[in-house]
This record gives sequence, C-alpha cells and structure tokens, in this order.
Amino acid sequence: MEKVLIIGSGPAALTAALYTSRANLSPLVIEGLEAGGQLMTTTEIENFPGFPEGIMGPSLIDNMRKQAEKFGAKFVYSDVTDVDFSKKPFTIKTDSKEYQSKTVIIATGAHPRKLGIESETKLWGHGVSSCATCDGAFFRNKEVCVVGGGDSAVEEAVFLTRFASKVTLIHRRDELRASKIMRDKAFNNDKIHFLWDCVINEILSSDNTKVQGIKVKNVKTNKIFDYPCDGVFVAIGHIANTKLFAGKLNLDKAGFIVTDTPTTYTSIKGVFAAGDVVDHIYKQAITAAAMGCKAAIDTERYLTETEN
Ligand code: NAP
Repeated sequence: MEKVLIIGSGPAALTAALYTSRANLSPLVIEGLEAGGQLMTTTEIENFPGFPEGIMGPSLIDNMRKQAEKFGAKFVYSDVTDVDFSKKPFTIKTDSKEYQSKTVIIATGAHPRKLGIESETKLWGHGVSSCATCDGAFFRNKEVCVVGGGDSAVEEAVFLTRFASKVTLIHRRDELRASKIMRDKAFNNDKIHFLWDCVINEILSSDNTKVQGIKVKNVKTNKIFDYPCDGVFVAIGHIANTKLFAGKLNLDKAGFIVTDTPTTYTSIKGVFAAGDVVDHIYKQAITAAAMGCKAAIDTERYLTETEN
C-alpha cells in the first residue's frame, strides 16, 4: 500500500514527488510511457527561474527527476490504464500491475491542440510552437503568424508584438471568439494583422530547420496563396489529459479537473490535482511546479489529519 501515488512526470508531478519524498512519504510516481510531458519537446527554456543561461526542456525534467529520486521518490515507467476512486484505498492500474494508495496526485498535464498537418509535426520546435511566452523572444524583429481566434490566440499575438515586427492572426472564421477586452487589444495594436476565413494548408520550409512561410487557404473563396513568415504559433486550445478520469472526478466543460481553489483538492477527498491538467490559463512550467508543491503539502496535511 502506497501513501502517495503520483500520476504524471512533468514539472507538477516531479515537484509533488520532491516535496512528498522530503516529507518522508516515499511517493510512487507512475510516469507514463511518454515521460516528461510537454517540456520534452521544448528546446531552450529561458524563463524558468534559477537558470540565467537557460536550460533545455529535457535537462530541466531530468534534473527535477533526479532531485526527487535523491529523497526517495520511486518511479514506474508505465501508462496508467484505469483508476478506481470509488473506495479507499484508491486503486490504480497499469498494463502490468495494480497499485493501492491512500492518496493520489494527478498531474497528467495537457497537450496543445494541433493543426494536424505533416509540416507542423516536422517543424515543431523549429519555428512552430504553441507557447509565445516560451519562444517569443526568438522572433525579435521577425514576422510571425498566430493561428486561432480565442483568448489564447489574441494573448499570444499581443505578447509577440513585443518582439516581432509583424504578427498575423489567422482565424478560420471572420469573427474572433476571444472576449471583448482581448479583441479590442488586438484591433488596437498596429503590429497585428488579420487573415480572416483562412486555414493553414502547409508550413513552408526548404530544409525542415526553419519556417519560411505558410500556404494558406481562404475557406470562403477557396483561394490558396503563400504568405511569408518566420514562425507559426498554434493557439487553438489545449486538451487536458483526463480521459482516465471522466465520470470519476468533476471535470469542467473543457475537460480540465476542477479543484477547490486555492487548494488542490478535487471532488474526491484524498485525490489531488496539479499543473496543466487543472490550469488552462497560465500553462507555464513554473506555475505547474508551484501547483505540484501545493498538492504535496495538501496531501501531507490530509494524511496527517486522516491518519490520527
Ligand atoms: P478556445 O477558446 O477554445 O479557442 C480556440 C480557438 O481556436 C477558436 O477560435 C477556434 O475556432 C480555433 N480552433 C480550434 N480548432 C481549430 C483548428 N483545428 N483549426 C483552426 N482553428 C481552430 O481556446 P483558448 O483560446 O486556448 O482558451 C481556452 C480557455 O482559456 C477559454 O475559456 C479562454 O477564455 C481562457 N483563456 C483566458 C485568457 C485570459 O483571460 N487572459 C487567456 C487565455 C485563455 P472557432 O472560434 O471557429 O471555434
């Protein structure tokens, strides 16, 4: 029987593992077959405090993992296939084994919704990104495109105007979904241009190491044309990795886990959630790590209260 079982292996999971291991709770981390989360496909990270020279995404994850391991966190390299939160102790199943635990911290993250075209996959991390906060500074005085019409797309576009010489927002309709305040911000910014009713058919690159433009289709006129740019930011929403928990925990309309903020308690006592699986607003490694710390402290206090 475990005291703490953590599902996930990004900054939220590994920070929860660090804090619970230092609290002598020997957490078991089921890290998943694609361990490390979104940082594993991120190149240089310049905004994680403590690394003035920047650090590569996979190295940051590796450091966090080693730090948690040093204090007694145990790791299992498997995907969770099912959970039973209906009775205590909770049951967590993988392909090969079944685990029982007094508490569970869910930090399974989210993944950016993608356009689903081949050139996007090839150029991801090489001029195609889903995080302006992370990669915007690489596009100083360059021209970039942002895809999407929601708050995220507008926020990314506005943020990118700090660096880029021109930002083009490409939306598949002729009306933004974003809130009025965000729409006004976009319309009042001279650096932001719009391609309405347009979708990207292909991201252009002669050598798959940098973006040179995009092939765009106007969905109303069916006209296809090339549009020059140096980078593409895909901001068409995130999908929470919560398939396992549907019907077992309260999820919001978009599928993210609902927590009793400011705590990390979920709708089931003893099950906590942290990181991008909860947060669809900030979505940063540092905010995920911070929430992982909160989940560890909530878990430790819950165990103390329920064990005495
Ligand atoms: P969202 O509101 O779901 O918007 C996604 C956008 O992407 C929509 O405009 C959608 O087009 C477009 N889209 C979806 N799939 C597409 C595809 N395959 N190809 C092209 N376009 C596609 O997602 P979000 O902007 O990430 O926001 C998520 C939540 O976080 C929202 O509740 C938002 O208000 C909130 N948020 C708030 C802030 C803020 O207040 N500062 C900042 C960021 C996010 P359609 O419009 O045609 O559906």
